[in-house]
Amino acid sequence: MTASTGSHGSYIVLARKWRPAQFSDIVGQGHIVRTLMNAIRSQRIHQAYLFTGSRGIGKTSIARIFAKVIRCESTRDTADGEWLRSCDECASCKEIASGNGIDVIEIDGASNNGVEAVREIRENAKYMPSTGNRKIYIIDEVHMLTTAAFNALLKTLEEPPAHVIFIFATTEPHKIPATILSRCQRFDFRRVNVAQIQARLAEITRAEGLTVEPGALALIARAAEGSMRDSQSLLDQVIAFSGSQLTVQSVRESVGLVEGQTLLGILAGIFGRKPLEALQFVEQAYSRGHDLRVLTRSLIEFLHGAVLAKIGAPNSSTLELAEEEWKELRAIAELRSLEEIELIFQVLHHGLEWIARSPQPKVVLDVLLVKCATAEALVSVDSVNSPSGRGTTTTAATSGAASIASPAASAARSAPVSSNTPVATSAPASVSAPVVNAPRAAASAPAASAASHQPAATVTAAPAKPAPVPGSQTWESFIEHVRGTRPLLATILEHGICAGTPTSEAGALRIHFTPNDSYFRDQLQSRVYHEQLLAFAKEYFVANAFLQIELKNEGESLAMRRERELKERERNARAAAQNHPIIIEARALFGGELGPIQLTDEENGNG
Ligand SMILES: [Zn+2]
Repeated sequence: MTASTGSHGSYIVLARKWRPAQFSDIVGQGHIVRTLMNAIRSQRIHQAYLFTGSRGIGKTSIARIFAKVIRCESTRDTADGEWLRSCDECASCKEIASGNGIDVIEIDGASNNGVEAVREIRENAKYMPSTGNRKIYIIDEVHMLTTAAFNALLKTLEEPPAHVIFIFATTEPHKIPATILSRCQRFDFRRVNVAQIQARLAEITRAEGLTVEPGALALIARAAEGSMRDSQSLLDQVIAFSGSQLTVQSVRESVGLVEGQTLLGILAGIFGRKPLEALQFVEQAYSRGHDLRVLTRSLIEFLHGAVLAKIGAPNSSTLELAEEEWKELRAIAELRSLEEIELIFQVLHHGLEWIARSPQPKVVLDVLLVKCATAEALVSVDSVNSPSGRGTTTTAATSGAASIASPAASAARSAPVSSNTPVATSAPASVSAPVVNAPRAAASAPAASAASHQPAATVTAAPAKPAPVPGSQTWESFIEHVRGTRPLLATILEHGICAGTPTSEAGALRIHFTPNDSYFRDQLQSRVYHEQLLAFAKEYFVANAFLQIELKNEGESLAMRRERELKERERNARAAAQNHPIIIEARALFGGELGPIQLTDEENGNG
């Protein structure tokens, strides 16, 4: 900490010590800096500027530098012509640097918001500057002015003395009257991105002689939410807490970030389908005073990490996890499919805004987490393993999640979903699905073209698996066998009902379709598929196999069974959710119908 100590032994906060002194020190507002420098170079300086943007992103810093460079007696371009710099040695520069400028007047609009303050400014502005030819007023938080004050200000802006420049700064431009806005050149400041903040923090810690564990600065940069000033205040906070050794752990503790173990505990509860465990970890963090918005954001980051782990990415430097935590996260990620993790990510991501706005954020977060943890009741990719079935289940789960999160509902509904058309009524979707989704899509490319009149001669089934053990040849195993090389044909067969498989005594493979599924019957009777199926039947069952394909309104196909089981799971999930105390509480809070109720509509054919 000694490096940050001033000559009198007092600690100088980093934000002040490292406040940018020249345009070249400004991070993340390049578009504004360039425009202002060009205005000075070309002597086309406006009389009123409005700097808008969130706090701590450089509005007043740029205003001061702008004023200093305008007033400096020996402002000049750097050798490479890129930057305009003040000399920092003349009387004016020194005045401004010390904060005692007579001709650069900073006014806090929040504490000087009355009409008297503005009248004083108007009186004062009439007088020429004590030196030089420009007098600059910087009014911070200008949106705090009263209506009367704005009216007084407007009179000045309508006929400003030629030597005066106003720079207004605000976080809330919508509160400024249009009459004022129309007289200002406006600059919208951008949030500084994490990488830019991190780079600046690295510069500062290096110069301050601090030891930094990798990842610690990224944590601070992200916690600062785009505010350079906040990032430096946080850095101060961490230094006060941990001295000159900055670790990921010390950053988490001093900045109030949720411990990695808590986040992993919540994720383990969600992924392991144990909502109560997840809620217990939330409760712990909540009772320790953690901000639930921060908690949720951190959870989303960990989910991002889980997605990365799932696709085999190495421990990323942006997630700054300790090696042990990364291992744990990888293990947790194993519990769910990538699609499920993405779905959970979506639910929480959409819920973040809701949590931020709710007067009862904990209730909202609890509901969302329970939803994520019990989503397995709706999405069970393993038990619904066909590609077409997967599309349907994903849809069901998404609409379920969306129906709870009312503000998020529209967003979640518009989230990309492979297909929300029921398989049974949308043949083209289900037929094309395997090509898109099946891992064997590449191998089955000929099957796709077979649909468009491939000569039957080339359609000889190429068995992908060794011949089946005699006696084990069921209809289901046959379909799986077919799927190995002809996924499109397998999809058709899923809609058929088998009344008998061929044996050496009776060679008929008897398949029928209900009238609803006549489309698939027609498909199967087309020459290409008929030839394919016959070849498979002979190879899989017995050499004398032949086909009987009819239309009959009885029995249940695999596709129908899958549909029914899905509905049952939805119904069970609905019953479970309806009786859950949190859902009851949420319903009382939010009024409207929750997801499980909506599923009833679906059954009535409205969904
Ligand atoms: Zn100067």
